[in-house]
Amino acid sequence: MCHNLPARLNMARRQIEWANEARVNIVEALGAACVLCGATEDLEIDVIHKTSRDPESHHHRKWNVSQRVTFWRREMEHDNLQLLCSTCNGRKGEPEPHPDETTQLPL
Ligand SMILES: [Zn+2]
Repeated sequence: MCHNLPARLNMARRQIEWANEARVNIVEALGAACVLCGATEDLEIDVIHKTSRDPESHHHRKWNVSQRVTFWRREMEHDNLQLLCSTCNGRKGEPEPHPDETTQLPL
């Protein structure tokens, strides 16, 4: 163990550990599965209704991990969070493919 770490770095590390733990708690509270396909890996916390509180809508402002966790917790109280796997999250915003189109490849 290195005891010469600057106190600020130590704090930052503890904050990241705390945020990671908080994130896991939020994911579990949300069911720990993608709401679209049920995947349980590569989950991302998604804000259902983008609001002015959304850090993604304030690109000029850099949110630190604890601000992000605080934001997620607040949105969760408003039932405004859902889980998406990275695949479904990447697809978001595009029109849902018709079920027939996904099962029938064009010849
Ligand atoms: Zn998914």
